[in-house]
Amino acid sequence: MSALRDDGLLRLHLGVGVVLSSVCVLMPAGLAHDVLYTAITFGCIGMMVVGIRRHRPPTARGWWLVTVGVVVWAAADVLWAVYTWILHISPFPSPADALYLTSYVLIASGFWCFVRARRGERDREGFIDSAIFTVGAGLISWVVLMRPGLEAAEETMSERVLAAAYPLSDVLLLALLVRLLTTKGARSASFRWLVAGNSLLLLADCAYQYTSMTEVYTGGAITLPWLLSYVCFAAAALHPSMRHLTDGTTSDRGTRFTSSRLVALTLASLVAPGTLLLQLAFGLRQAAWAVALSSVVLFLLVVWRMSGLLRRLDAQTAKLADLARTDALTGLPNRRTSDAELERMQTRARTEGLPLCVSILDLDRFKAFNDTYGHQAGDSLLVTAAAAWREQMQAERADVGEGRAAMLGRWGGEEFVLLALGHDLTAAAALVDSMRAVTPAGQTFSAGVAQWDGLESAEAVFSRADQALYEAKDGGRDRVCLAAPGMVMEAVEVPGNATAESG
Ligand code: GH3
Ligand code: MG
Ligand code: MG
Repeated sequence: MSALRDDGLLRLHLGVGVVLSSVCVLMPAGLAHDVLYTAITFGCIGMMVVGIRRHRPPTARGWWLVTVGVVVWAAADVLWAVYTWILHISPFPSPADALYLTSYVLIASGFWCFVRARRGERDREGFIDSAIFTVGAGLISWVVLMRPGLEAAEETMSERVLAAAYPLSDVLLLALLVRLLTTKGARSASFRWLVAGNSLLLLADCAYQYTSMTEVYTGGAITLPWLLSYVCFAAAALHPSMRHLTDGTTSDRGTRFTSSRLVALTLASLVAPGTLLLQLAFGLRQAAWAVALSSVVLFLLVVWRMSGLLRRLDAQTAKLADLARTDALTGLPNRRTSDAELERMQTRARTEGLPLCVSILDLDRFKAFNDTYGHQAGDSLLVTAAAAWREQMQAERADVGEGRAAMLGRWGGEEFVLLALGHDLTAAAALVDSMRAVTPAGQTFSAGVAQWDGLESAEAVFSRADQALYEAKDGGRDRVCLAAPGMVMEAVEVPGNATAESG
């Protein structure tokens, strides 16, 4: 019911707004035109108030600032009309200008409220991108509008400063428009009406400023985008989605580097050299200082942006590498890492003449554990067992001191691999035994240990350890079995006593 009423009011507003604005544009310049113009503006202000009061948005301050901005703008228009049609004096410069410039600041502040509500937590990228775009647009504005305005010789100082202050205010509005477009929030209907309103305002302003450099303003087609911008602001306030301007701020939509953003940034970065080239090619007056300064700022901004991207890439690469190295459940090194570590340990064993043992651990009757207590309990047992073993290994290492290195990895499922450098079979078996002692929840495991013979491949030593594991299982589980020596066993002592000897 209320949604239907909202929809009806919005349609009515748009219909009346567009028709009256078109009529106004077709009217000849004069008091009647200005009266209708002002009536449309105040009608839109009324609709904005209705929208804000009806929808009670969380970003009400922003909406009120834009509304008051349009009110001040309308007051300036009225003052302008009074100067022109009643007092018959030129309205430029006059207190109307102060009102106009205040209005820009108010509307821009309103947009800043929207930006703040929509930008999310950290959004340096959005800030830099809009800064790059604004600097590019600012240079164009300087060359086309601001400098000619400042240098207009026949006008007074205040007129010239004012002539430059308007384009500067438009750059401010543009900056906030672009910043709003780089925010993360959802692009609701209300959001799009706001963007349209700001864009039309900018379009009207630029057209006005450009034409008024050569001719006296008499209204005409230029008034249409101005009027429509108020119609759009009011439509934004009337649309129910104005309540949800901050929705979606947790998504990463705004920070994604889309190709349209890349095109916009590329064009903005090319504004400075492009301006210089055009001025050189067509023999125009050069804006060397402005081009040089904006180039410096643009370069710094682009480098800042790039360094952010590279830093993020580095962090993500490190995170991915970490993820690829570790087992997600237990946090232990995974099979790939265990393989790589074995290779490193083989090199060290060879060069430093150290013994190297490999052990495969397999939980006993773990399927039954899962069947009895559930898969999740099985998972947490894997986690706690891995933690207990790792702690035990660290304690052992502290006991034994340097020179020895050991690594426990998750081989897959409920199987683990222990690599023990500087451990002979006896020492490795003792280490595995100490781990058996700390296995939680009364769980047991069987293990096979093999000592690397110095020449055999990683597969070969693993397969011997696996063979020994089978023997441990066959022998009744909950035990450690030692593999028979490999083919080459020079410089490596065969242990005298062991938990159980295979082969
Ligand atoms: P045994 O090794 O003593 O011969 O018996 P078992 O039941 O442990 O052996 P088997 O290899 O047949 O079964 C291993 C079971 O381990 C199968 C599966 O239910 C369980 N398992 C493997 N990976 C996981 C895991 O990530 N989480 C849980 N909860 N269970 C797992
Ligand atoms: Mg198994
Ligand atoms: Mg098992």
